[in-house]
Amino acid sequence: MEVAVSASQQHFALVCGAGGFIGHHLVNRLKREGFWVRGVDLKFPRFSETQADDFLVGDLRDPYFVRHVVDRKFDEIYQLAADMGGAGYIFTGEHDADVMHNSATINLNVLQRAYERNNRRIFYSSSACMYPEYNQLDPDNPNCAEGSAYPAAPDSEYGWEKLFSERLYLAYARNHGMEVRIARYHNIFGPEGSWNDGKEIAPAAVCRKVAIAADGGEVEVWGDGKQTRSFLYIDECLEGTVRLTRSGFIGPVNIGSDEMVTIDRLVDLVADIAGKKIKKRYIDGPTGVRGRNSDNRLIQEKLGWGPSTVLSDGLRPTYAWINKQVTRNARTVSEALPASAAATSTQRMQLVELKRQMPKR
Ligand code: NAD
Repeated sequence: MEVAVSASQQHFALVCGAGGFIGHHLVNRLKREGFWVRGVDLKFPRFSETQADDFLVGDLRDPYFVRHVVDRKFDEIYQLAADMGGAGYIFTGEHDADVMHNSATINLNVLQRAYERNNRRIFYSSSACMYPEYNQLDPDNPNCAEGSAYPAAPDSEYGWEKLFSERLYLAYARNHGMEVRIARYHNIFGPEGSWNDGKEIAPAAVCRKVAIAADGGEVEVWGDGKQTRSFLYIDECLEGTVRLTRSGFIGPVNIGSDEMVTIDRLVDLVADIAGKKIKKRYIDGPTGVRGRNSDNRLIQEKLGWGPSTVLSDGLRPTYAWINKQVTRNARTVSEALPASAAATSTQRMQLVELKRQMPKR
């Protein structure tokens, strides 16, 4: 669906959250299509240079900064900025106040300013985390159809904020004629995502653990490994995002894969790709709901499209990229983890393994 835009019909896009995983990839995608792109974030992308024509570093919680960001007409605005992370960030409860306050404030500011500046078309990235917990207790039969959102009962404050913001966007559509487009993303993964900062989601965490482990070694799995999820490769996420934004359908609609796997299976797939025999050790950890899978009937019906990349095809480039980061970081980790009493036995084990993997000079 990539469209090349000629200079005479230059299109303009704003990507909020352009320093983050999905936003950074989205900027690249829009640039390939010929858009002039402004990115905005608290920070530049971590792993490669942004291709945005203009990149503003600043805080979208600040309405004065947001006035500056949305100071012109854009054909498409993508609002991806959020205080967000994987299970280790959003399910522990430690970040609840920040997550709710920061993300809600960003959405209130960006949407209001887009409206004031007469920019109608705006995409909002909600999350599968807004679905009620009571429909996701059976790992084999989770219900994540769009119509199952109410009565609301998300299992995290992150999910509640997403639900609030969905309603905010829908209210602006009803009352102010905003052309909002809302997607509920399900576990997006790929190269250049968080992999070691506590905000990584399961595929990245598993790739890192397997990359660090020796052949025949073991990795820690949070919970019993029987919880189910589906994971969507980044390119498919971008395809769904731009298709929805340019369609006549408001949503909310799932953008996710319907290839549901257990976490055990995810580990096995990554181990196969790495060519390693890996044992699993189950430990307590934040696991979220028992089962979750994208229901893709609505997106198929409304957009005539759904993701088709199989999980292992997305894991291959992701593992290759994370394995490279692990190897590259080995020397830094070696410095950061002195053989002191402060280093746990797991850390020391990882250090030995990282040193083993370091390229010989
Ligand atoms: P990310 O954390 O990599 O990107 C979010 C970006 O928002 C970060 O770069 C961050 O610096 C920026 N940001 C946060 N607070 C800001 C502020 N006050 N001002 C300016 N920028 C700020 O996350 P991502 O994986 O790229 O996710 C993008 C969006 O998609 C988020 O809204 C997220 O909730 C949603 N989502 C992602 C997934 C997933 O699996 N990655 C799943 C469901 C929903």
